[in-house]
Amino acid sequence: MKRIFLRIFCVIYAVWLLTLTVFAAENNEYTWSGFGKKDNVYSCAKTDEKVIALTFDDGPHPTITPKILDILKKYNVKATFFVIGRNIENYPDPFVRTAAEGHEIGNHTYSHLTSQHTEKQALEEELVRTDSIIRKLTGKSPSLFRPPTGYCNLTTVKSAADFNYKIIIWTVDTEDWAHTSAKGIAENVLGNVHNGSIVLMHDYLTKPHYTVEALEIILPKLIEMGYQFVTVSELIALDCDN
Ligand SMILES: [Zn+2]
Repeated sequence: MKRIFLRIFCVIYAVWLLTLTVFAAENNEYTWSGFGKKDNVYSCAKTDEKVIALTFDDGPHPTITPKILDILKKYNVKATFFVIGRNIENYPDPFVRTAAEGHEIGNHTYSHLTSQHTEKQALEEELVRTDSIIRKLTGKSPSLFRPPTGYCNLTTVKSAADFNYKIIIWTVDTEDWAHTSAKGIAENVLGNVHNGSIVLMHDYLTKPHYTVEALEIILPKLIEMGYQFVTVSELIALDCDN
């Protein structure tokens, strides 16, 4: 009798697990609290060291990217740029300069394609296309991928894993994309930054933006606070969960 109950229990459990798997696959959901690291997705590094990583998305831009590079050079700061393949084709010079000055390059798709309502194949084509443009101009493939808008589903996570990409989200959103003032951007960073933070900024914006002005406030303050700036790969190498 006991055996029958056990068998029934096992069958019910198996059906329940299968239902959960099918449900998750149909939903294509990827739920996560967003602090630290899960699978190949990172939002920051858990570390006692006073290090942070600045990141710039959506470039290269013909005028904004060079201005940002000038400021980073002035303060001897290395950052990470998540670039769009189409923008590299349009503006190769600021891209080549970014890589030559020692900043890390990450993939941000070819056309800023979000994974929402996107087939796995379409996303992977954009990853491969952008990777090949980056490799042609720098001699190496990136190891980081930031999904546009930060949106992640199972397709995003699986595709990134298939190509050995680490997915990089962020812990501090400067909101420079929402035409926040330079003072507002600085407050968003200085009020929220901590050891191991990944800070989201943009070097390609079409609306009025104050990213460049904000950097002139933020960088000397963070240096005064004792922070060191590293690339994202250097930062996540310090994660104590590694
Ligand atoms: Zn973006």
